[in-house]
Amino acid sequence: MLNIVTPSVLQPLCVDWADARQVSLYIKRDDLIHPIISGNKWRKLKYALLEAKQRGVAEIISFGGGHSNHLHALGYCCHQLGIQLLALVRGNYTANPTPMLRDLQQWHSRIIYLDKATYHKRSQPNFIASWQAAHPDALIIPEGGSQALALPGVAEILSEQESDFSHLLVPVGSGGTLAGLIQARQARHKNDLRLIGVATLKGEGYLEGLVNSLLPDSAYSNWHIEHRFHFGGYAKRSDELINFCDTFKIQTGIAIEPVYSGKTCWALKQLLAEGYFPRGSRILLLHTGGLQGAR
Ligand SMILES: *Cc1c(COP(=O)(O)O)cnc(C)c1O
Repeated sequence: MLNIVTPSVLQPLCVDWADARQVSLYIKRDDLIHPIISGNKWRKLKYALLEAKQRGVAEIISFGGGHSNHLHALGYCCHQLGIQLLALVRGNYTANPTPMLRDLQQWHSRIIYLDKATYHKRSQPNFIASWQAAHPDALIIPEGGSQALALPGVAEILSEQESDFSHLLVPVGSGGTLAGLIQARQARHKNDLRLIGVATLKGEGYLEGLVNSLLPDSAYSNWHIEHRFHFGGYAKRSDELINFCDTFKIQTGIAIEPVYSGKTCWALKQLLAEGYFPRGSRILLLHTGGLQGAR
């Protein structure tokens, strides 16, 4: 019904960065698994949605900003699956709906705007409980879809990838994607694969906490989050970053956007220039999609 195309395409990443010749670079195109559903959001939602469908859930409640890739993917999936989505959105876009919100309206999602102080409570247990009390039969999915049930879907990114890589780079927002990859790597005993998260927001310590809170065991090692490439915060950007995204698209034919994939590619370029990767490294960059958010 949703026509998701996996395994996603794996292709060499051909860039003219001087330091790229010492290593092999590949990109996994989760941005191509569906024309509407953003790559990693499907990975995180897959098993939650399968379970919702099995249980006959009629309503799903979730959270996000006005450009949220998560709400966008969820809104589309719910529409296709005949489930009512109630989107709790940070801020008030009544007068000026974003393209994302206009899509949600078209897919018959209900939208409720929450002021910033209320939205801030989105993961507090008593706040969730009050929404659950008002909608007893609804399934509530956290912001970004990052929850324990998201991990098995993310794990499939690694299991469909038989080549051996030494490093994997992935953007980090709410932590579910990185957590799922860490867990999958442990399960597959590929412990020499170094996982590098690229923080897309200012959150040193906070993001590591989010990732660990999703993992059954916080003792997993050989992963870390780079905090130097968020450009000042979530969705913050500079002209240099935007030019970098444009040039990348021209050179490689692969579109990236400044919120997630642009910062991750930028981080890859910087780490290469710093000599972070040993000669001969086999580096995989996960393109998580997200181009709808850049409209
Ligand atoms: C949400 C999102 C991320 C971040 O993933 P998390 O699991 O929230 O850390 C990365 N890339 C894109 C395109 C996203 O939409």
